[in-house]
Amino acid sequence: MTNQAQQPCLKVIPLGGLHEIGKNTCVFEYGDDIMLVDAGLAFPSDGMHGVNVVMPDTSYLRENQKRIRGMIVTHGHEDHIGGIAHHLKNFNIPVIHGPRLALAMLTGKMEEAGVMDRTILQTVAPRDVVKVGQHFSVEFIRNTHSMADSFSLAITTPVGTVIFTGDFKFDHTPVDGETFDMARLAHYGEQGVLCLFSDSTNSEVPGFCPPERSVFPCLDRHISQAEGRVIITTFASSIHRVAMILELALKNGRKVGLLGRSMLNVIAKARELGYMRAPDDLFVPIKQIRDLPDRETLLLMTGSQGEPLAALSRISRGEHPQVQVKTTDTIIFSASPIPGNTISVVNTIDRLMMLGAKVVYGKGEGIHVSGHGFQEDQKLMLALTKPKYFVPVHGEHRMLVCHSKTAQSMGVPAENILIIDNGDVVQLTPDSISKGEPVKAGIELLDASRNGIVDARVLKERQQLAEDGVITMLAVISTDGVMAAPPRVNLRGVVTAADARKLSLWAEREITWVLENRWQQLSRNSGGKAPDVDWMGVQREIEIGLQRRLRRELQVEPLIICLVQPAPGGTPAYKGRADAEPDTRPAPRGGRGGGRDDRRERPERVDRGPRAERTAPAPEPRRELAAVGAAPAAAKVEEPELEGRTRRRRSAAAG
Ligand SMILES: [Zn+2]
Ligand SMILES: [Zn+2]
Repeated sequence: MTNQAQQPCLKVIPLGGLHEIGKNTCVFEYGDDIMLVDAGLAFPSDGMHGVNVVMPDTSYLRENQKRIRGMIVTHGHEDHIGGIAHHLKNFNIPVIHGPRLALAMLTGKMEEAGVMDRTILQTVAPRDVVKVGQHFSVEFIRNTHSMADSFSLAITTPVGTVIFTGDFKFDHTPVDGETFDMARLAHYGEQGVLCLFSDSTNSEVPGFCPPERSVFPCLDRHISQAEGRVIITTFASSIHRVAMILELALKNGRKVGLLGRSMLNVIAKARELGYMRAPDDLFVPIKQIRDLPDRETLLLMTGSQGEPLAALSRISRGEHPQVQVKTTDTIIFSASPIPGNTISVVNTIDRLMMLGAKVVYGKGEGIHVSGHGFQEDQKLMLALTKPKYFVPVHGEHRMLVCHSKTAQSMGVPAENILIIDNGDVVQLTPDSISKGEPVKAGIELLDASRNGIVDARVLKERQQLAEDGVITMLAVISTDGVMAAPPRVNLRGVVTAADARKLSLWAEREITWVLENRWQQLSRNSGGKAPDVDWMGVQREIEIGLQRRLRRELQVEPLIICLVQPAPGGTPAYKGRADAEPDTRPAPRGGRGGGRDDRRERPERVDRGPRAERTAPAPEPRRELAAVGAAPAAAKVEEPELEGRTRRRRSAAAG
């Protein structure tokens, strides 16, 4: 803001896509105008239980939605368009300009989300120039990538021209014949490029990225040599790859069965728009596929990333209703695992091999090439655009660092390069680049419905459930602050050396502690018969206490759920069990004040009841027994008879 007051500057704020691969979302801002470039999603990492997709935190856009003038889409990959339909539920985008194929795919997502009326979709052709707001004009420059109909952007702003590469590699023999419009890049390079934002995905890989066509002969060899069925998995959105596989099926006299929703959707869209040419009779519905001879069958399916619900993963587990693996099958993984998916991919490969199939996978086979340029592609981009400033994007941190070294080797001074994180603000003027005050950036996790947000607390709870199990605990507490029955403790999925008796004892101690030290804050005498008790607060206090104790004593962190069953005032106190073992709790817990900590050092005697079992049954509080004494903790009461056994009478004050 201060900078803006002195000299107007262009701000470029990535909200996702940095220090990660995925959810690319970039904000361009000048004066009162905001223009978005792409809005993608990412897939969850291990430990994000029940999370389907990861979105960037868009608080910044929600707060500034009045200034959003439009969006530019570079291409139709999920990490670039997968967030748009979701965001449209939260803020409006007046217009979205993008390639035909990407917008066709986006339309399906928007229809599903019911947000078709929230924006206008404008299809662009190569070299089209669109104006967004007062300050931005964007030229779409055809580039080459694993997805068809992909663009780099030349964004002209009041401070100069920015080249935003989008995802790219230099493929001089593209499958669809649409070559990289390098002449336009060179044109802007000649005119002067203020800053280049360039794809860093493969910045660690030396050399040029091989052309997509190079996989054709390798795939052909495997398909033509296959004795039985051919099963191929790849990303549905790798349009060129899918187009080649269809071409090879035709060439080798095999009919194609498609499995997986995205595979069916993408191929239908791409054929409809002419990005893939294949005769209708090449395809056979999956239900009829078993009527064909194996040698005339090719199954193309999702699951290249080992996604548990995708077709190939289900087949590998023998859970697919229509397709079972045969020992004569040749199964080809024409994709490489996204980092993070490696384990599920190799597990799928193992299972398929154990079923006896021939599995073709891995780098040496020549059946997959990346859609992102290597170091030499990145150098060519720098050479053509000759930028004054450089910001590596679309990559994990080490990739950004590596890309910045490449730029330096090409003569871009180190001080003209910024390595940034999501939420950082790049401030550009005609003669400066700097980092401004960052904006809020983070993640939003969506569950399978894509409506429910899995917040940090829910995620933490799921992690606890998965890793340390759950302990539920029922406490019976009367409205006048008396523990009226022994707590009932129940464990699920908890591995612990401590027996249930010890856990019950600890639970008792936490309840007693809360009643002695927190009851006054948590209950309010409203003048009526019974005091107002903040039962939720009581539960939380007990949960927190037990949580800390378990972490300290057992080094486990199960999810703890405490339920309090309120008992009427006057219910006699259950005085807890004596135990020979002293409470070793070393330090009072945070915020404790005026607690009777001396109680903690009191040795307690053991009552070996039936609660040494995993589930301790809680007896009904014996309400007919009258409480004696007003101060609950110090009350001396008649011992209620529990489960047919007489508990030892003890007064807390007697310790
Ligand atoms: Zn892409
Ligand atoms: Zn991408």
